[in-house]
Amino acid sequence: MTARVINGAAIAASLRAELAQRVAGLPFQPGLAVILVGDNPASAVYVRNKDRAAITAGLRVETVRLPADIAQAALMDEISRLNADPAIDGILVQLPLPPDISSRAVLEAIDPAKDVDGFHPINVGRLQDGLPVLAPCTPSGIMKLLAVDQTKIAGARALILGRSAIVGRPVAALLLAADATVTIAHSRTRELPAECRRADILIAAVGRPEFIRGDWLKPGAVVIDVGINRLEDGRLVGDVAFAECRDIAGAITPVPGGVGPMTIACLLENTVSAAIARRA
Ligand code: NAP
Repeated sequence: MTARVINGAAIAASLRAELAQRVAGLPFQPGLAVILVGDNPASAVYVRNKDRAAITAGLRVETVRLPADIAQAALMDEISRLNADPAIDGILVQLPLPPDISSRAVLEAIDPAKDVDGFHPINVGRLQDGLPVLAPCTPSGIMKLLAVDQTKIAGARALILGRSAIVGRPVAALLLAADATVTIAHSRTRELPAECRRADILIAAVGRPEFIRGDWLKPGAVVIDVGINRLEDGRLVGDVAFAECRDIAGAITPVPGGVGPMTIACLLENTVSAAIARRA
């Protein structure tokens, strides 16, 4: 069997086009503020990509670049200013922050109604309760990929490999809300290949190149690869050994071109949703 390859790049492009159309029809221009502290090159690239995508979708973007040695209080002041700015609907703080800054305090300072990354504890709690919420972008993107693939989620056994706050835990909450039977595995999980073999849906968010092997899969399983790993030879690979898993899975996402493009598309969608909700 050769798996269906779920084309995240194409699905994200159509979501972005749909959003641009929605934005064009709004009586106001949604505003996104992106805060970048310091000069981490990877963060700078992520921020540039987010800015570009947001502008292309018709959003107003304010990029706030702050020095790496900014005091915590000054960063908090910046967030208060953006919280109070009626033209700003979404606030995103690019992580990681410099070590002297408390990321938790910064994320908790963001107005939950403008928290387009979905990291504020109020939004985390609402997500766990299965309530409508600005959900974190990568997990939302994963759910959209499953929807486009028409994966049957209700009653399916879903195994999530990884328990991070940005991927593993929130995607577990979304799958549970969609009536999957959810298991979360992590570095202390025993007999991991056997756990994986029970899964109808396997979400890999480990951060280890090609960690999931073909013989760990239940034949026909839907495999979503969140991992982004740069090998020494420069190649980008996921957490799933794609070539061998493609022969066993029913559907699989590639890296690159799978989950990655969905994350930015969902950030734009969260900003538009926040704008509509705030201005209703
Ligand atoms: P993370 O915070 O580093 O979490 C990794 C998880 O994997 C942890 O829960 C860890 O377990 C578990 N783990 C590590 N080694 C393991 C092992 N040998 N066996 C079983 N579990 C193991 O990672 P993350 O932030 O969720 O990111 C995961 C990957 O997704 C990374 O490659 C990242 O670059 C990528 N990512 C991609 C996107 C996107 O847009 N496509 C977005 C976010 C992240 P413990 O909790 O026990 O330590």
